[in-house]
Amino acid sequence: MSFLEIEDVQKSFGATTVVHHFSLSVERGEFVSFLGPSGCGKTTMLRIVAGFETPSAGTVRIDGQDVTRLPPNERRIGMVFQAYALFPNMTVRDNVAFGLRIAGMGREERAARVEEMLRLIGLPHVADRYPYQLSGGQQQRVALARAIAPRPRVLLLDEPLSALDAKIRVSLREEIRELQRSLGITTIFVTHDQEEALSMSDRIVVMSEGRAEQVGTPFEIYNRPRTRFVASFVGTLSLLEGEAAFGDRAIVAGQEVEAEMPGAKPGDRVTLALRPESLSLHPSRERSNALKGTISDVAFLGSVVRVRARFGQGELLIDTFNDPAAPPPQRGEPVTVFFSPADVQCLDAATGA
Ligand code: ATP
Repeated sequence: MSFLEIEDVQKSFGATTVVHHFSLSVERGEFVSFLGPSGCGKTTMLRIVAGFETPSAGTVRIDGQDVTRLPPNERRIGMVFQAYALFPNMTVRDNVAFGLRIAGMGREERAARVEEMLRLIGLPHVADRYPYQLSGGQQQRVALARAIAPRPRVLLLDEPLSALDAKIRVSLREEIRELQRSLGITTIFVTHDQEEALSMSDRIVVMSEGRAEQVGTPFEIYNRPRTRFVASFVGTLSLLEGEAAFGDRAIVAGQEVEAEMPGAKPGDRVTLALRPESLSLHPSRERSNALKGTISDVAFLGSVVRVRARFGQGELLIDTFNDPAAPPPQRGEPVTVFFSPADVQCLDAATGA
């Protein structure tokens, strides 16, 4: 049995079901993200693990113990929220000590634990400050210290970075991950930011409309999306509609390309999904597919130039490296795009699978 087991959980508010048959096993020390758009149920699922919501059906187990009906304070979990939820009238030291005092830890041990936590988050010098005397990033680090100080069994993070500015977000990502790894603490992280999920997680649960669409490593989620939703929510993706022909061939915009289309029969409508970075304006041995089209837009992004090209009714985005020595691609120019059959994801046009 895994350390954290979520078994066939459902949650309804009145007549509306917002979590459907959700199951997940999380190993001890694992970092798992719930990733999905606003309203997909990720916070509700996290609150069910925390004990702030009771599921309408299903079971939550931590380290073999059924906690489904247990109140949050008896679950030994730590939680960090999006908005800085520090107690404004308490110093940093007292904030971090809060859970320890509640747990009945003695004064000396408590002081030592608070020191240790503040050192861990790199803020030993702010112990006597109040939250309003800290930056947003510092407040979130203190919130993290407060959550992990009582050594919880599971750490739950609900969009803890989304209120911070871009630079701090990126550095805090690394800090959180490092801390989580060094403590070996089992963690669930809720985010709608695919970059956060991809860069931090051991595994990601991509959620849509209350369902786990796919569970996998960042590599699997990005490179082997199993549904159209996952493919288009994670990373950038261009979709070309076409028709399956004989022998791994598809007809797209009147041209023939090779792609693996398991289960497709000649004449079936198929959708070919391609990532901008797997397309090239230069031929090579692996890139045996060539599609002729017209450049409709060029966006200079710095190291990368993103070209938009039309193929009949369809469009593709192509990322090429900026080459200062070559003339840049121009709108209206004819273009040939090259790609490998292995880089094509084939989706069922009807079901999105
Ligand atoms: P966000 O990123 O916007 O927080 P989310 O993926 O975390 O979204 P949830 O907050 O879990 O989504 O909400 C899922 C659905 O459940 C939403 O449609 C929401 O309106 C609904 N919902 C959540 N809590 C309640 C509640 N207490 N009563 C009724 N409906 C609720």
